Amino acid sequence: AKNKGKSAFAVFAPEMTEVSHERLQMESLMRRALEQQEFELYFQPIVRTETGQMAFAEALLRWNNPSLGMVMPDRFIPLAEETGLIMPIGEWVLKESCKAAMRWRTETGHRIGISVNVSPRQFRDPDFVQTVMQALEQSGLEPDQLELEITERLILDNTIETADILRELDQSGIRLSVDDFGTGYSALSYLKSYPFDTLKIDKSFVQDVMTEHDDASLVRAIINMAHSLGLRVIAEGVEEEAQTHFLKTEGCDYSQGYFYSRPLPAADFDTWLSSNHRV
Ligand code: C2E
Ligand code: CA
Ligand code: CA
Ligand code: CA
Repeated sequence: AKNKGKSAFAVFAPEMTEVSHERLQMESLMRRALEQQEFELYFQPIVRTETGQMAFAEALLRWNNPSLGMVMPDRFIPLAEETGLIMPIGEWVLKESCKAAMRWRTETGHRIGISVNVSPRQFRDPDFVQTVMQALEQSGLEPDQLELEITERLILDNTIETADILRELDQSGIRLSVDDFGTGYSALSYLKSYPFDTLKIDKSFVQDVMTEHDDASLVRAIINMAHSLGLRVIAEGVEEEAQTHFLKTEGCDYSQGYFYSRPLPAADFDTWLSSNHRV
């Protein structure tokens, strides 16, 4: 709406209708996407910085729709959150992720953990913990092979329920990581009081470590702080070799990014796994 100063009616006129039409269309397509089997998981390797060997993988959701084409998660996850469709979709992601990790184990003999993104609304679902446990039971995957990625923003509204759920998941042996660390403008005290295992440094910091002195200092400080709290650190968005040298020098435990591999469809991931992984 560019026509500021006109009446509220004029401001909301044609563009809004178009946007909400698109939304409605997308929503109705999304409602059928699960049963039409349009969702697909891609997997991105997370490697040990020191050796470049795969340690685990992050599951990243894709939506292949006949009329929309391949839809990236930033385009549909927010709408899935708003409509509540994230519940069944998120459940599917959890189950498929655990199955995939179990399949890597039985087919290739490699014990590769899987990291799954959890959205705030999903996390607040009273059945969430049960859904996670079911995904583990049905696949046979051990709890310490599953890591749940929770954004800093979710932790911000630190309610008693959030703390309880995190504790319950932690006690069952599942790993917990803070995603997008550094972007949530939150006090750091939660790191002390919540049972996190891993901290993922947001790619916006990693991207400029070679050119921006401040970003390098920040990344160094985050790594040191995390280690002194007993957390493992993953650097996201590693695209260049120079960054890997920096991260190695600074003792960053794990790295993830296009330099190592883009997120891959299951079949390509299997190929990557068998060529990269030496036991
Ligand atoms: P995220 O959790 O921060 O995931 C990392 C994103 O960075 C992914 O984008 C990944 O493809 C991208 N990426 C990886 N390496 C690099 C790199 O070297 N450079 C750059 N520029 N980007 C890199 P993607 O797959 O488009 O996912 C976007 C976001 O959508 C994710 O951000 C996550 O918040 C959300 N998402 C993805 N899958 C799921 C899911 O199953 N459930 C939920 N709730 N959210 C998901
Ligand atoms: Ca993530
Ligand atoms: Ca833990
Ligand atoms: Ca992230």
